[in-house]
Amino acid sequence: MNAVLAAPTRSFTRTLQRHGIALARTPLEILQVNLTARCNLACTHCHVESGPKRHEAVDARGITRLIELMDTAPALHTLDLTGGAPELHPQFRELVRAGRARGLKVIDRCNLTVLFEPGQEDTAEFLAAQGVAVVASLPCYTPENVNKQRGKGVFGGSIDALLRLNALGYGTSGSGLELDLVYNPIGAKLPPSQALLENDYRQRLHDDFDITFNQLFTITNMPIKRFLHELERDGELDAYMQLLIDNFNPRAALGVMCRNLVSVGWDGGLYDCDFNQMLGIELGHARTTLWDIARLDEIETRPIAFAQHCYGCTAGAGSSCGGSLA
Ligand code: SF4
Ligand code: SF4
Repeated sequence: MNAVLAAPTRSFTRTLQRHGIALARTPLEILQVNLTARCNLACTHCHVESGPKRHEAVDARGITRLIELMDTAPALHTLDLTGGAPELHPQFRELVRAGRARGLKVIDRCNLTVLFEPGQEDTAEFLAAQGVAVVASLPCYTPENVNKQRGKGVFGGSIDALLRLNALGYGTSGSGLELDLVYNPIGAKLPPSQALLENDYRQRLHDDFDITFNQLFTITNMPIKRFLHELERDGELDAYMQLLIDNFNPRAALGVMCRNLVSVGWDGGLYDCDFNQMLGIELGHARTTLWDIARLDEIETRPIAFAQHCYGCTAGAGSSCGGSLA
């Protein structure tokens, strides 16, 4: 069992109860798909444990079923593509086109350097032509911190990719092409204020590289998978869990992303979020796949499967794929 799930800390669900919070689903608005575990990078904090040697991916049957189900949830407005590096999936573009043809906002969770991988030479242009929103991870505006977390040379590649996206109109006013950046702390601490850090990023990236972007999302490192192993190795797991628990924020809890999102895994399994997916905690604790449902909005009546790592979403200002919550 995952060390965090087994830890004798205060139960997350009991904490919700103590605060009088009953978290039910709201209408399904976001369909998030982990297209592939493959990635050109292998970051130290990666909760997917992605890397160049991983090859799990949604198969062609799964892509067809996803496209069919996009029409079966009236409140659905966003198709959120993640991985690994989603661009490396052979049907990435087909799925993007299908989402855009239905009027959905399509998000590409892009690690930036993938845009320079062989076979990806025209990906940036494709994203711009389709009006895809790019959410790009950049854990710092200095080379030292980025290279430490993501690998040697990644900072330089990320800056080159941001410049290329800016040249296509991304992150520039009036273009309609959204470019958001994602920050996560390096080490066992909570993110700083999203608004203040966004100002720092804006200033530094502008002054140093003439780069512009729309928003910065701060995300808390989840005590699971690769980051969990790091915490255990460094003897910091208990202190980090305590930090998350001590900073439980009821207002953040009300906004957790599992209320209006469903996460789809490589095998077509459905999950409350991709953290649960990586831990093998199935949707509301019941194995459900793309083929077990007739409509996507069927899941709106399902319970949500909470566990101890959920404290990572509710600590401080809260954390989600769209940044802080409170
Ligand atoms: S770029 Fe993203 S998916 Fe790839 S290894 Fe890093 S954190 Fe994981
Ligand atoms: S980890 Fe997942 S299930 Fe838990 S609160 Fe966060 S989004 Fe919800």
